[in-house]
Amino acid sequence: MSDRSVLTRCPTFAAGAALAVVLLPLQTQQQHAVAIRARAMVDVDGGRLIQQATVLIRGDRIIAAGATADVHVPADASRMDLPATTLLPGLIDAHVHLTLGGEAAANARATLAAGFTTVQDLGAAAYANVILRDAIKAGRTEGPRVIASGPWLGVSGGTCDFNGIGVRGVDAFRGRVREDVKRGADLIKVCVSGWLADAVQHPANYEISDDELTAAIEEAHRLGRRVAVHALSEAGIAVAVRLGADLVVHAGFPTADTVTLMKERRVQQLPTLFSLSPPNGKHVAALRTHMQGAVAAGLPVAFGTDAGVIPHGANAREFEYLAAIGLDPASALRAATVSAARAVGMPTELGALAAGRLADVIGVEGNPLEDLRTLQQVTFVMKGGKVVRGGGSMQQRQ
Ligand SMILES: [Zn+2]
Repeated sequence: MSDRSVLTRCPTFAAGAALAVVLLPLQTQQQHAVAIRARAMVDVDGGRLIQQATVLIRGDRIIAAGATADVHVPADASRMDLPATTLLPGLIDAHVHLTLGGEAAANARATLAAGFTTVQDLGAAAYANVILRDAIKAGRTEGPRVIASGPWLGVSGGTCDFNGIGVRGVDAFRGRVREDVKRGADLIKVCVSGWLADAVQHPANYEISDDELTAAIEEAHRLGRRVAVHALSEAGIAVAVRLGADLVVHAGFPTADTVTLMKERRVQQLPTLFSLSPPNGKHVAALRTHMQGAVAAGLPVAFGTDAGVIPHGANAREFEYLAAIGLDPASALRAATVSAARAVGMPTELGALAAGRLADVIGVEGNPLEDLRTLQQVTFVMKGGKVVRGGGSMQQRQ
């Protein structure tokens, strides 16, 4: 990139010699590569560890990653050595509420420090998640990359009718989707059923009409937005999947036929089992048993916690619960990386340490493929090429 191109792409600045002097160091910085050398890295797609690994970054992108012997590091690259660390892609939680359960800015910081470099925020009052997303994007607040739904959309008197935000009727559902998109929502969150006890006691129940749900999904898709549904009951999940929902955001009771349809349509389920499993919780065992069966039948699973219900920053505890429904460590890691990248609508940008992806890189001091609990003690976090935790000092080469 020449300095001329930088200048011509900044219409607020008149091209001039004095400005070029100001812009050049920044431009040089952007061009500068950083090589992170680590004890190992996780190839999440292959489910294997690569010993003695290097991840090469320029700007906010990964330009190469793999065994150190295979990665050509330019002579002028800065070098960061993490000899005790295993690198992996930044973790992704596809179901959080950063504005619930504490102060939003603190929640965002705790989440990022825990190695979750991207989250999908599925519900906030007054578009607070959209506002937080933009503040983080603009660098005014530190936190993970946020994909935000705006408020919850559901029927009056239903599960997600907080302070009277529920609506009734096909026109109202269409109208709210249009309003949410206009206000900046990246996707739409629709509430279809009640919670766990209701799903166990009344498997055939759900609270929205088929026409209302169809209206919401059609309008969202027409506007290029995905739809995540809160649905736990057998009938609630079935109708949501049949009518075209993209994500089911809690564990629940999909039938064998529904699981088959979810596989065909690549509809992912985000179990949120940690948040659904209070100690001595009444229906937890039944839920876990059902989810074990669904996972064994090939249910597409992506990582989501409903953080805000569980403490922000404790997101990685969910891995234990995924293991308990039958995901081996490699599958659990894929749920929080490649699969979650798709669940947040960024399948080619996130989820792997690979050339061209955004430089979201985290590190732990053990092997997560042997012990998922290592993911609860993240020691290094880089988001979009910027180190936000750990990393020691960087050596600059001339
Ligand atoms: Zn939620």
